Amino acid sequence: MVVGGGLAGLAAAVALAGDGASVTLLERRPSFGGRAYSYEHPALAETVDSQHVVLGCCTNLLGLVGQAGAGELVRWYDELTFLEPGGRKSVMKPSGLPAPLHQAMSFLRAPMLGLKDKVGIAAGLLQFLRGYPAGDAESFATWLKRTGQTERAIRHFWEPVVVGALNDGFEQCSTKYAGKVFHETFLKSEVGGRLGIPAAPLTEFFEPVVALAERLGVTVKLKCGVDGLERRDGGWVVRAEEREFVADTVVLATDFRQTRKLLDGVGGAGAIASDLERFVAAPITTVHLWYDRDVTEMDHAVLLDTRIQWVFAKSRIRRWGAERGSYLELVISASWAELGMGREEILASALRELELFFPKVREARLVKSGVLKEARATFSVVPGLDAFRPEQRTEWPGLFLAGDWTATEWPSTMEGAVRSGRLAAGAVVGEAGRFMATETPASGLMRWLNRD
Ligand SMILES: Cc1cc2nc3c(=O)[nH]c(=O)nc-3n(C[C@H](O)[C@H](O)[C@H](O)COP(=O)(O)OP(=O)(O)OC[C@H]3O[C@@H](n4cnc5c(N)ncnc54)[C@H](O)[C@@H]3O)c2cc1C
Repeated sequence: MVVGGGLAGLAAAVALAGDGASVTLLERRPSFGGRAYSYEHPALAETVDSQHVVLGCCTNLLGLVGQAGAGELVRWYDELTFLEPGGRKSVMKPSGLPAPLHQAMSFLRAPMLGLKDKVGIAAGLLQFLRGYPAGDAESFATWLKRTGQTERAIRHFWEPVVVGALNDGFEQCSTKYAGKVFHETFLKSEVGGRLGIPAAPLTEFFEPVVALAERLGVTVKLKCGVDGLERRDGGWVVRAEEREFVADTVVLATDFRQTRKLLDGVGGAGAIASDLERFVAAPITTVHLWYDRDVTEMDHAVLLDTRIQWVFAKSRIRRWGAERGSYLELVISASWAELGMGREEILASALRELELFFPKVREARLVKSGVLKEARATFSVVPGLDAFRPEQRTEWPGLFLAGDWTATEWPSTMEGAVRSGRLAAGAVVGEAGRFMATETPASGLMRWLNRD
């Protein structure tokens, strides 16, 4: 039995059913995918989601999507454009030099950084050349100070990457996970840093994974919220919607708050439940804009020196015809400030900022707009959190945990979620690595330098 039909639960269910187990998957919402979801927005009459991106190093997520036959729905990009207000571009892309130098040429040319900034960044990146710290005690704020990064290097390089990937401020991110992002995506190989964007709304994008689970024999039940868990006669009783399900093995693939609630009902959950209090949830706000025409020739870009950090031209990514106009999504990560702001205020500020980068929006007609706030989008990899992320195997026989927040060595991401589900399935069969994909191999000079 798997409780929770997010990516962690789906990954666990697919792995176990593929291994011959009889699996039932219970999800409380009317669709699967958990936080990676899309829905029909009634007021906008549009299917909306908060843009999720994937990187080449997300081998477990990509493996699952590929296994389900949905790999071609990922649009891949080798270039990442950083835009300054006024429109000046810095394009990071591989140049043909071997890793870790593959991005060096574009880095050296990038006008968004001065020589002193680049020297400091290069020295900083060298610290992550062979890997990243095993311990997570230090905050990335301390690391930036310790390595003497310039103010502009922070604003134009470290911040967009770290806040975009880890969704919180430097004080709330450990150097370990920030270092992992730079090691995997900038240094280890060209493939690891490729940016993949789902070219369909998320629920549609993950639909083939649900179909795969069903093909493998998983019994799926939607609108089936579990409200109690009890140990009985050596097995487990799962209570949902006034029904009882009996199982030898339960994988709880719910978010940390729900897991805490469910574990409260199981005797002796004290230790793990108090560990779960260490988790901090961080918000993401997205602004959705539909225009009567194209306003940019780019599919996506990182925006510098503004609240908006990313722009995704979803109409371009999804290859809409020109007659449909255009659809942009603007992403504000770690949007603590926006949580307390009204939607009109967020929209007005976003539109003001957008004009600084894309003057064409002044001539275009804004047909409709929406603001989505996800207050609990991700958990923050605060320094010291690793000690409190539980293993998938618990102290109770037959009870396993999954979810991006469990011990995966990954931050709060779809890859972390799929890893956790596969690790939980491995713990169920007693062979931790059985369902795990191989990591992206180091390439170029990194074959000798990488210490993984
Ligand atoms: C706005 C936003 C942007 C993001 N951007 C990215 C990105 O660009 N790249 C990336 O990799 N990740 C991104 N993420 C993070 C990513 O979505 C999550 O890390 C991942 O989806 C977590 O999956 P999960 O299965 O661990 O948890 P969840 O998705 O939270 O799944 C838990 C599931 O359990 C169900 N559930 C809970 N309680 C019960 C119960 N009692 N009974 C039955 N079911 C229950 C829930 O309904 C849910 O379906 C983003 C998240 C958000 C919100």
